[in-house]
Amino acid sequence: MIARPEILPPSAAAIARAAELLRAGELVAFPTETVYGLGADAANQDAVESVFAAKGRPQFNPLIVHVADLEMAEQVAVFDDRARTLGHGLWAGPFTVVLPRRDDAPVSPLVSAGLDTVAVRVPGHQVAQGLLRAFDRPIAAPSANRSGGVSPTTPIHVAKDLGERVAMILAGGRCQVGLESTILDMTTDPPRLLRPGRVGRREIEGLIGPIAAPEDGDAAAPAADPTAPNAPGQLASHYAPRLPVRLNAVTVGPTEALLAFGPDRYIRGGATRLNLSPEGDLHEAAANLYAMIHRLDDPAYTAIAVMPIPERSIGFAINDRLRRAAAPRGAVRPS
Ligand code: AMP
Ligand code: MG
Repeated sequence: MIARPEILPPSAAAIARAAELLRAGELVAFPTETVYGLGADAANQDAVESVFAAKGRPQFNPLIVHVADLEMAEQVAVFDDRARTLGHGLWAGPFTVVLPRRDDAPVSPLVSAGLDTVAVRVPGHQVAQGLLRAFDRPIAAPSANRSGGVSPTTPIHVAKDLGERVAMILAGGRCQVGLESTILDMTTDPPRLLRPGRVGRREIEGLIGPIAAPEDGDAAAPAADPTAPNAPGQLASHYAPRLPVRLNAVTVGPTEALLAFGPDRYIRGGATRLNLSPEGDLHEAAANLYAMIHRLDDPAYTAIAVMPIPERSIGFAINDRLRRAAAPRGAVRPS
């Protein structure tokens, strides 16, 4: 018997085997440019159910459907001209669009949590693309971590968090963006930013005109009803390590771990420290964020103190994740 999970470098043979496992209803973790995804055959109800079970994810929180290209996306969702413009302009890339679901979409209703909308994305990562081409059908894939926890940006994170619950991990190294995709809901007028990410508000507005988001930039609009199934990405506690997270730290306690950004010599002490980007590069910080939180999330410390991150560029998305990581854990946690 083969030990689970099989952890393989993403050779053509390994990708072909992963596609075979997906066809057999198994779960396969694979790298994307954002974070590692926990993939299942989107058309297979049992496989999709096991994604929710493996993550401990509530079934009202829908999954993103990953497709190889715009053509495959149009088999799943109803595109209008503006959605097509976004697809041409931003795919393949770290951008997800929520659209009306096609009646004949080759996707289990569970993927959409029973909603009449569906979230689709064309990932740019070579291994994700290779897997989608080999499988040749939509893959439902949330982040490959237990619900509510810190997202995985290395195969080790996936193995630690989901272990035997996945049949295979395609080990494609570290994720380059390091934060989940930007999500834009196009079923409202104007379209609404549900989750900030590397693709920023200005980039979207340059293609289709005004969208709804707070004036301060890319932060997602607040949820009217925090348990509303069409806005689960907006629930307060998410991306949370086991340790408490303290934001905008300008000092550090002797038992705290410091997560620094930019020059940090003036902050003395702390039990340990890692720096997201000593040069203050926000993209480097985003790529390092989850891996460093994973490393600092150690019961040897009492909390993770995080230095201020500027509210510009991908800094909006970093701060969005950090605020949720610091939020008190509620009864209902998204994933
Ligand atoms: P994850 O799979 O962990 O990257 O999370 C996927 C995100 O996409 C969650 O915040 C979901 O709530 C969101 N999402 C997926 N499908 C929809 C949809 N039909 N409407 C709104 N949000 C969605
Ligand atoms: Mg997630």
